[in-house]
Amino acid sequence: MPDSPLPVTRRTFLHRTGAGAVLLAGGALAGGTAAAAPALPGSPARRLAPPDLDPLALLKRMLAFDTQNFGEGGVTRPHAEMLKALWESAGVSAEIIPTPKKDNVHLVARIKGTTAAPPLLLLGHSDVVPVERDKWSVDPFAGVVKNGEIYGRGSLDMKGANAAFITALLRHLKEGGKFDRDIIVLTDCDEEAGQYGSRWLAEHHWNKIDAGMVLTEGGWFLAQKDRTTPMLITVTRQDKVYFNLDLVADGTATHSSKPNPDSAIAKLSRAVTALDTWLAPVTLTPVTREYFSALAKATRDAPFKRALELLLSARSQHARERAAALVVKRSSYPWLHRALLRTTHAFVIEDAGYKENVIPSAATVRINCRGVPGGQRPRDFLAGVRERLAGRDVTVKLVGNPGESEEAALKRLDETFAKPPSSIDSPLYAAIGDAARRTYPGAVFAPALFEAGTSLAPWTSRGVPGYGVYPYVLDNDQLVTMHGTDERISVAALQQGTEFMYRLFDRFRAR
Ligand SMILES: [Zn+2]
Repeated sequence: MPDSPLPVTRRTFLHRTGAGAVLLAGGALAGGTAAAAPALPGSPARRLAPPDLDPLALLKRMLAFDTQNFGEGGVTRPHAEMLKALWESAGVSAEIIPTPKKDNVHLVARIKGTTAAPPLLLLGHSDVVPVERDKWSVDPFAGVVKNGEIYGRGSLDMKGANAAFITALLRHLKEGGKFDRDIIVLTDCDEEAGQYGSRWLAEHHWNKIDAGMVLTEGGWFLAQKDRTTPMLITVTRQDKVYFNLDLVADGTATHSSKPNPDSAIAKLSRAVTALDTWLAPVTLTPVTREYFSALAKATRDAPFKRALELLLSARSQHARERAAALVVKRSSYPWLHRALLRTTHAFVIEDAGYKENVIPSAATVRINCRGVPGGQRPRDFLAGVRERLAGRDVTVKLVGNPGESEEAALKRLDETFAKPPSSIDSPLYAAIGDAARRTYPGAVFAPALFEAGTSLAPWTSRGVPGYGVYPYVLDNDQLVTMHGTDERISVAALQQGTEFMYRLFDRFRAR
């Protein structure tokens, strides 16, 4: 998620769920027998499989807490209390850090290591984006397992990853394992929006999260065309650059009985159509070049491989564009690969009109954009959009921070754009690669660009390397459910991803 998300005013299409957060008594956590049923609202005493042995049981428990973030944080305290009890039952001290917003809290657990080496920090947000509940085929907070997949808001992003991280650590602890450095597990809030996220935490409690390297969400584990065989295991070392544009059309406000050609809504719609059929130019950077080369090596799909080779060997922009179109057409993950090739622009919030007998004077659409660091500069993308919409009587505004001029906002984006990727010369990167090769021996391992964003900025801006993985192989249908409807991952992939994490942490065991 974004570096500086702005609050949204029109959210009438989303409605809060009635269930609210589920509070599980800490005492119910330690015991429990084999029944791996989800914790349901109103039945806190339901017995669960010990979550320290099974990532699925832990994930189900996490999913039962409604931590939806509607733009200004969510209710994360009950979820944090559940995890705190879990850590304490394993002998690990954990602290809930309140924020100025009630019940919107961070949780920091610290597993003490045997040396004073700079700690390894795992960063996993507990808040989730809202659900459009009536579109879901199952209850998004019930942890339903169907056809080998676990459904729920956050199952992919990123309670599933948190469950794999935490279960793998608890397995080591259960074996009596000790680590050669402190391992900090930060379960944060306000990642999906809000003012008290990791930046706020770093400003107020840096000593609790000071670390030598950080792992969070990001890299995808992709499958071959059969949708299950591991193909490409990636770890992200860089996030795309996040910014927003507003398209604004003005028109004549009048009585709706007398339509006229100066309609703000019609003008805006024509501009949206013109932008929707346009793609920003393809750019390859050293990071994305390495990614697409690894993909070409990994795929068993010969036509796809040829398209990738064309892309990598293209000598002109024209050839690059043609090859990129072919790559997207032949990819099993077309939206992901289209996004890694260029600055993307997505229409996210439209605002126009308020009464049926009034023609409104203005119509606005917000466009969320994600630039490739080191590729096309945001200011060049903005110029391209303005050129595309020239003569259409709409205004294109870069959305800056309050009171910030466009040039100041562009300068700020220039700095983010120029930030180098995290160095791959670190013990954490080596451990990730080693675990990937051992857990997914038939797949190719490679560093990558994250097409979205993370909360890594407080660390990476201090020179601490930060990486990302979602440790489960997934197919495109599952990938598309991220921030969408029927979010889910494969249970078998989650189990294998937990093995991967276990091996990763094994590199940090004290010998
Ligand atoms: Zn996320």
